[in-house]
Amino acid sequence: MKNTKLLKTNAAVSIILIIGFLLTSIFSYKANYKASLDNIEQVSALTSEGIYYQMRALFAKPVDVSLTMAHDSLLTEHLSEEASRTGSSYEKRTREYLRAYQEKYHYDSVFLVSAASRHYYNFNGLDRTLYKSDPEDQWYYDVLESKREYTLKVDNDQVKGADNKITVFINCKIKDISGNVIGVVGVGMRVDSLKKILQKYEKESDMEAYFIDDEGMIQISTAYTGYEKKDWFKECGDEVNRKEILSWKKENSDLNIWTGQSTDGSGKSFISTRYIPELSWHLIIEQKTGRLIDDMKQEIYRSVLMIVLIILAVLFIITSVIKNFNKQLTHLMNEKQTLFKNVTEQLYENIYELNISKNCPAGKSTERYFESLGAGDIPYDQGLRVIAEKQIKEEFREGYVNTFTPENVLREYGKGNYHLQYDFMISEDGSQYYWMRIDAYTFLSSEDRCIHMFTYRKNIDEDKRRALQMTKMAETDEMTGFHTRKATERCIEKLLTQNKDAKYSFFIFDIDNFKQANDQYGHVFGDMAIKEFTTVIRRHFRENDILGRIGGDEFAAFIPVEDMGSVEAKAENIAADLDRTFTDGVSSWKMSVSIGISIAPRDGMDFVSLYKNADAALYETKQRGKNGYTIYRE
Ligand code: GH3
Ligand code: MG
Repeated sequence: MKNTKLLKTNAAVSIILIIGFLLTSIFSYKANYKASLDNIEQVSALTSEGIYYQMRALFAKPVDVSLTMAHDSLLTEHLSEEASRTGSSYEKRTREYLRAYQEKYHYDSVFLVSAASRHYYNFNGLDRTLYKSDPEDQWYYDVLESKREYTLKVDNDQVKGADNKITVFINCKIKDISGNVIGVVGVGMRVDSLKKILQKYEKESDMEAYFIDDEGMIQISTAYTGYEKKDWFKECGDEVNRKEILSWKKENSDLNIWTGQSTDGSGKSFISTRYIPELSWHLIIEQKTGRLIDDMKQEIYRSVLMIVLIILAVLFIITSVIKNFNKQLTHLMNEKQTLFKNVTEQLYENIYELNISKNCPAGKSTERYFESLGAGDIPYDQGLRVIAEKQIKEEFREGYVNTFTPENVLREYGKGNYHLQYDFMISEDGSQYYWMRIDAYTFLSSEDRCIHMFTYRKNIDEDKRRALQMTKMAETDEMTGFHTRKATERCIEKLLTQNKDAKYSFFIFDIDNFKQANDQYGHVFGDMAIKEFTTVIRRHFRENDILGRIGGDEFAAFIPVEDMGSVEAKAENIAADLDRTFTDGVSSWKMSVSIGISIAPRDGMDFVSLYKNADAALYETKQRGKNGYTIYRE
């Protein structure tokens, strides 16, 4: 697989994974978001309720204790005696009274203010005198003016040794029998402990809890106390819901509000509020979605990281699997190619490619081959002649060049013949010739739109020699070694067509009275006579002259004619030579020959005509009494 294909596969897999991941993420984000909002509502309601009851429980007792003190007749009486019983004994009794409560309930402060003297007592004794002009003492005058029996006030504890610690004071008015306020008594609890309760809830439920008063001022939160005078609505930037929240005073019931998107990017908030009548405070539980969204974003980032890792792992696996597969494929291909090459090399000596249209070699190995034979810088057709000249046996050169010359190749291609074959003898050293076959295949190259030709060379020496041997055997008369009649005819026709102007003589030799020999001495004797007869004839001809057996006791010779005299001389000599007595050692028989001769082209341009005329001449010889020769005359 090509690299681009691999890239495409990887991209497709990545896209599928990413789309799958996105869809899953969007659905799960939506589902989670909704579930989380529901969860926020539920948790807020529960937290609100939890804090509400805990606060009520927490304040119930000090309110109770403060009210008990306020209604204690002993204290009322004790206060009324203040003017008459000044001095340390009065202060001591007051201190003991307050200390008794402090020791019993462990409040951070137990105090008493006399309306008459404005003396502020606590469990350590007389602390100070309150003045209306002092803003720090304003709380006292507020209490006096309040219509409520008791009030809660978050303030700094100015008592000596209290280090101004922020404290929730429960202030109860003490009234005499006629209903006049004669003092204020109460207890104080450090805000720290209240804060801890809120902190615990905030930690557990991941939300913020506030106690605000009817003005919206934060009385207790983990960050502020009433002492700092912070307006919750301003702090939260949620002015819209001020009226609704502050007017919600339904007992034991929540008001739940989803605020709009905040400007600080913390998302919208869920607010659950409750009114605590005992304290005249509103408990506010606020949960911001910003954190939730942050968590979900974190979750998404983690998922993105995971999916990236998964995609990388998948891509890595795919890439290595494909690469491995390709490697194996390439290996197999190489093996196959090597195998094919080996087999081809075994079959063919060389394979070359030629661009016939451009009359030049196509490919490096072909160029090298031509160069090696000194035909490197010349056109292919000229190179062909150089090769023929250098390596090919003379009689095959012309055929070789004519077959593979570009003109012939293109001509054959035009006729629809895409396969050319030529067998020839070749020699690398100029002496040892062997048979070679070239198979050439022509085709139109899609690359350069030219006619190309692949040539496959194959050493066919062994096969060819065997085939030639077989042909020779098939064309040779076994008894005499002469050509058969068919082969004789073929050889003569070939010569006649090749050399149309040349002069040839065609001899027919017929054994005289041969039937007699067979009849008298038997066929074996007759055969032996035929053998001697042909041996004698052979002696009168050259090796390459065509000699054939064209009948039972009829033989032919076909030779070039130099002059008619030599034809006659040859006929006379042969006749004289065959005019002999043949013996097999036992029997003897008088042998002689009758000869008929025709001359090409005079008496015919083909085998049949020449044979016919020579036979006519032979007939004449026989007629004349045999043992002689006749040259055909019209
Ligand atoms: P003529 O002088 O007119 O030629 O007469 P002839 O006796 O030679 O008669 P003809 O040519 O008609 O017959 C040739 C004979 O040769 C006939 C045949 O039996 C014999 N013959 C043909 N082939 C063979 C052969 O291979 N071996 C032997 N022994 N005899 C053969
Ligand atoms: Mg005969």
